[in-house]
Amino acid sequence: MKHVTEFRDPALAKNLLAEIAALADRIGATRAEPVRIMEICGGHTHAIFRFGLDKLVHEGIEFIHGPGCPVCVLPMARVDECIEIAERPGVIFTTFGDAMRVPGTRGSLMQAKARGCDIRMVYSPLDALEIARRNPGHEVVFFGLGFETTTPSTAFAIQAAAREGLGNFTVFCNHITVPEPLRALLGDPHMQLDGFVGPGHVSMVIGTHPYDFIAEDFGKPITVAGFEPLDLLQAVAMVLRQIAEGRAEVENQYARVVPEHGNPASIAAMADVYERRPSFEWRGLGEIDASGLRIRPAYAAYDAEEKFGVGYAAGPRHVPEPEGCACGSVMTGRMKPTACPQYGTGCTPETPLGALMVSSEGACAAYWQYGGARVAAE
Ligand code: SF4
Repeated sequence: MKHVTEFRDPALAKNLLAEIAALADRIGATRAEPVRIMEICGGHTHAIFRFGLDKLVHEGIEFIHGPGCPVCVLPMARVDECIEIAERPGVIFTTFGDAMRVPGTRGSLMQAKARGCDIRMVYSPLDALEIARRNPGHEVVFFGLGFETTTPSTAFAIQAAAREGLGNFTVFCNHITVPEPLRALLGDPHMQLDGFVGPGHVSMVIGTHPYDFIAEDFGKPITVAGFEPLDLLQAVAMVLRQIAEGRAEVENQYARVVPEHGNPASIAAMADVYERRPSFEWRGLGEIDASGLRIRPAYAAYDAEEKFGVGYAAGPRHVPEPEGCACGSVMTGRMKPTACPQYGTGCTPETPLGALMVSSEGACAAYWQYGGARVAAE
């Protein structure tokens, strides 16, 4: 398959691994004192494990898994609020599939569906819009969830609903942004990070400049990367080369997809439809200033929080994490999934305690899915 196999070429991978090893030796990275590189995006975490890159690279490279899985960082209270909306008479609640099994205090959306709620899986907010058109007697709510990758498509759906004057379509907006939690992590003196692999899909929308502060304010290198093995290996080599040369810059390995200034149409749609919330709660990270988006008053008719009086419209609500759950520590890179006391015992894909075990971008799911016997043995 053209455009896939060429990014999985074994000979090129060997060259990159040799380059990484030479750079790691030059820096003095060892297993005991590794270079700690955070891959921000959960998609990268899965790619690293899927292709075994964590074992192929020099032993002095440690991958730290970052908070870039939007389903994982969603606090339990928001899942509860989804169910609260879905339980209202006449509501059709629509969601992406990977949010279906995320546990709240009253179970997941999947369990609410089993109890009789009309909850439907969709592939796009435009699918939800179509359901609204076909069901004028129902209130159709779309669970808007995700980073800047999915935020524009929700905005386009809201703009389309407004153009059509659709009165039975709203969005429960949980869109969040990547730069703010990174600033929070970098401001934590206990976090020891040497560099970053930046998210590919988010950057395709926002460009590379929103990460300038990582290099300028915190002196750390970051390389935006694609999702194939050669992409990730090249990105790691680029981060290491910066460290070896004493540089801290924003570099773009994924230039075939990520434009420096992002996607203007998406950026304009986001600016039109959303405004920043003063703060938003992240699972494991707490409230982070200006890290969440809400629907602007001009589009209030399409805001489920306003229509149903839930979420921040009903006042802040915090639900504590389940006893023994280490999701927060895993999500901020302080702990590896296998170190969580619940991993594989109290928490499995069949009986998840945290979203990280069931999300397609969750670190615990990556370890479970691809680590197999190796991770269990470790
Ligand atoms: S194993 Fe389960 S409880 Fe532990 S961090 Fe992962 S998702 Fe959370």
